[in-house]
Amino acid sequence: MITRALLALALATPGTVEVSVDEVMSHLQAFQAIADAHGGNRAAGESGYDASADYVAARLRAAGYEVELQPFVFPFYRELSAAKLSGKKAFPKVSTLVFSGSGRASGRPRRAGDGCLPRSFAEFRAGQVAVVQRGACPFQVKAVNARRAGASALVIVNQGGPFGGSLETPQSIPVVGVSAAVGKQVAAQRRVRVVTRTASEQRVTYNVIAQTKAGNANKVVMVGAHLDSVPDGPGINDNASGSAAILELAEQVAKAKPDRAIRFAWWGAEEEGLLGSIHYVMQLDDAAREKIKAYLNLDMIGSPNPTFGIYDGDDSDKEGAGPGPKGSARIERAFERWFTAKGLPYQGTDFSGRSDYGPFIQVGIPAGGLFTGADSDKTAAEAKVFGGEAGKPLDKCYHLPCDSLANVNRTALRTSAEAVAAVLAKLAWRS
Ligand SMILES: [Zn+2]
Repeated sequence: MITRALLALALATPGTVEVSVDEVMSHLQAFQAIADAHGGNRAAGESGYDASADYVAARLRAAGYEVELQPFVFPFYRELSAAKLSGKKAFPKVSTLVFSGSGRASGRPRRAGDGCLPRSFAEFRAGQVAVVQRGACPFQVKAVNARRAGASALVIVNQGGPFGGSLETPQSIPVVGVSAAVGKQVAAQRRVRVVTRTASEQRVTYNVIAQTKAGNANKVVMVGAHLDSVPDGPGINDNASGSAAILELAEQVAKAKPDRAIRFAWWGAEEEGLLGSIHYVMQLDDAAREKIKAYLNLDMIGSPNPTFGIYDGDDSDKEGAGPGPKGSARIERAFERWFTAKGLPYQGTDFSGRSDYGPFIQVGIPAGGLFTGADSDKTAAEAKVFGGEAGKPLDKCYHLPCDSLANVNRTALRTSAEAVAAVLAKLAWRS
């Protein structure tokens, strides 16, 4: 009879994690069905995202996890129909500024300089439509000053042709942009009417987080993927593919006995600027950050015309961003060894921080991951190594409505999921 400690050790090694591509595909089908039932997308702040989060949470609970839904607020914006601006006649090429309020306003147009200071509006009367020059300060400042002065709407006038821009945060009054020529005509009207139709407000969305009960919770290996799509499509390669793969991983390791605890995260609002992962990393205190020993990220792992890109954690490619935190190189090597052992080709992909590992490497947590390609074209050299079509995008449906189930390359998905399973096993079965 051996001691309990020795028995536990014997059972704990070696660590292998098996994944089934059929299971990953069945999750992809579920995400496609969710998009189909929710207006064709799974974007943050929309019902398709909430249904995606519910699906992941339900599967995790069924596998025995305690699931945390971590809420955070983010600025939500959609233009629901094109802006209209008219005086005696309708003006052409009027753009709604991003985060404009929604509504119809009519009033006397009144110039207010560049609108950058409250005193720009000294002569202003409530209900008038403010007309200001572009430049000298952010659009947001002009909008806040106009609203405080009682403007019913704001027209921002370019020095040149038509333009667009963002107000950064949701505003309550309609804000439109026009060319210099239109601006001149607008200011000369006795009355103008501005109509915008937008959804512009703070909304709540969620990260979904779960951790294995087994394993040292002071030495955590984290695996994450963004769960949201863009508003324009179902987001099956970007990034139901990563979400489905880590859900399968979570189901597979639910009953395993890793040395290190494994924490899974499905991020919200990545497409709005990594908002979920930034929120997550920022709310961790130093002690909690210190416990995360590695972070693996999966964002687009089933591209239809794929390459296999391993995040270049050691900057050996000398391209773009520099190396990641110490430990990132080791993760990169673990991926490289797996591909080499399988006789499969791979290449580096710049550690740019342009997905959810960005906030992790910012605070010094080692990271790595895989990426099979977005909208850039496959080079002739890549086609030689990976097959597929040179001169064609790696993912022709990147951020488009056609990023559906049919857009996913099953072999790429399978290879990526198996690679990350192997690297996860290496990282989590080690004290
Ligand atoms: Zn993505």
